Amino acid sequence: MKSALVLVPPNIPSMDSVAGGRFQATYNAGGSEASHWIPLWICYAAGAVPTARAMDCNVLGISREEFVRTIPHYHIYVFYANQETIAYDQETAAQLHEAHKDSLIVFAGPYATVVPEKVLASPAVHAVIRGELEEPLRDLCSNVAMSEIKGLTWKAGDSIISNPDGPKLEDLDSLPWVSSIIRRDLPLLRYRIPYLNYPYISLFSGRGCPSQCTYCLWPQTMTGHRYRTRNIFDVAEEMIWIHKALPHIREIQIEDDTFTCDKARVLQLCDALQGKGIVWSCCARHDLSADLLMRMKEAGARNLVVGFESGNDEILKRIKKGVNIAQAKRFMNDCRRVGLRVHGCFVFGLPGETKQTLQETLDYALELKPHTVQFTIASAYEGTAFNSYLRDQGFLREDTGVTDSGHLSAKYDYPDLRGDEINIFTHEAWKAFYLRPSTILRQVLGAAENLNDARRLWHGVKYVGQYLWMNDPHMK
Ligand code: SF4
Repeated sequence: MKSALVLVPPNIPSMDSVAGGRFQATYNAGGSEASHWIPLWICYAAGAVPTARAMDCNVLGISREEFVRTIPHYHIYVFYANQETIAYDQETAAQLHEAHKDSLIVFAGPYATVVPEKVLASPAVHAVIRGELEEPLRDLCSNVAMSEIKGLTWKAGDSIISNPDGPKLEDLDSLPWVSSIIRRDLPLLRYRIPYLNYPYISLFSGRGCPSQCTYCLWPQTMTGHRYRTRNIFDVAEEMIWIHKALPHIREIQIEDDTFTCDKARVLQLCDALQGKGIVWSCCARHDLSADLLMRMKEAGARNLVVGFESGNDEILKRIKKGVNIAQAKRFMNDCRRVGLRVHGCFVFGLPGETKQTLQETLDYALELKPHTVQFTIASAYEGTAFNSYLRDQGFLREDTGVTDSGHLSAKYDYPDLRGDEINIFTHEAWKAFYLRPSTILRQVLGAAENLNDARRLWHGVKYVGQYLWMNDPHMK
């Protein structure tokens, strides 16, 4: 069997594009306080093949030069690349190819999945895995002929051949526990997300999301709109194992696109975790009943990551969010009542956005008062309906969605709202939320009660503060 290294490649210096995260860019702070998501995709892929290993050059701070000079020989290198750094990643592949001429260089990830031909334009890239990595990687390592591997786009001489799509991976239980792969291959203590207890670890209990949000990258490129799930009792077993084997881990993040879309399954997990003392978080929609929120809290849930997105119901309809503002208000009240924290996600620049709707969304965030927030700029990722909309309407100015430093930037203009106005407003929204006396008081009171909150607050202050007082990154 061939050996493989599945990697998040070295970053462009001074740019913090988070290939493992939901946003393929630095959406708020940069530099040493950058937030790092555990790159689950490379770990699941490395776990699927006994001869594969995962490596995250980004979080290790390994430069391209160091990587090319020191990386051991593998038969196959798989780059988990992203849209914003693709040219840099292709050049890294070219240098790696010079050093390991007989190795196969393969790209994967959402961007490569959608536009494999563009990625294969680099002479150093031999093939692209479209979609989920595990099965094609297993085939490549097992010497299956490239022409037989589903989901592979590859070069045969001067031709580019696109094999048929492979099926989505149904038997997610066949994959090893990703936590054991993370422990084996990644420097776990280097990962930090300000709204989670540190240190944290993450896992998938399922893949795919039935919702149709037009701007959302993952279901439209990698995971699909059917929620495929692991046996929930095996998920509970993995969480209990983490709790025992990695006692320094203070929070487990269930990283499914929307863990709460199958409510019966959420209840089963709650029953299995009851009384185990495990602290966990997940991505959720704001359509949960107060009873379910209470059960989650009783079973150790601490924090929900919730996409409220816009404070304008018309925009919520346009982006097919499937939930509305009235539901969100009820949900926030219920979360407060049962003592669940909420990390609220809001997006500026969605279709139909005007100066007035920007303000409505900020006012909405201030009214909902989640414990922490993130304000992001809608990103025109290839493969999303949002990208097609901007192109069809002639609104898109540039293909990239980031500045040279890797910060999100609206590179599109609406008839009544320019991209730079969206950028400036986003910057001001961070200040308006985090510099509000009531927000500061709430955070300080929380920190006074709880050591974890104090640690998180200290990191959050550095994190958000760096953003607030640096030159406006969106203006570069
Ligand atoms: S609910 Fe969340 S994960 Fe699902 S499509 Fe919408 S934004 Fe994406």
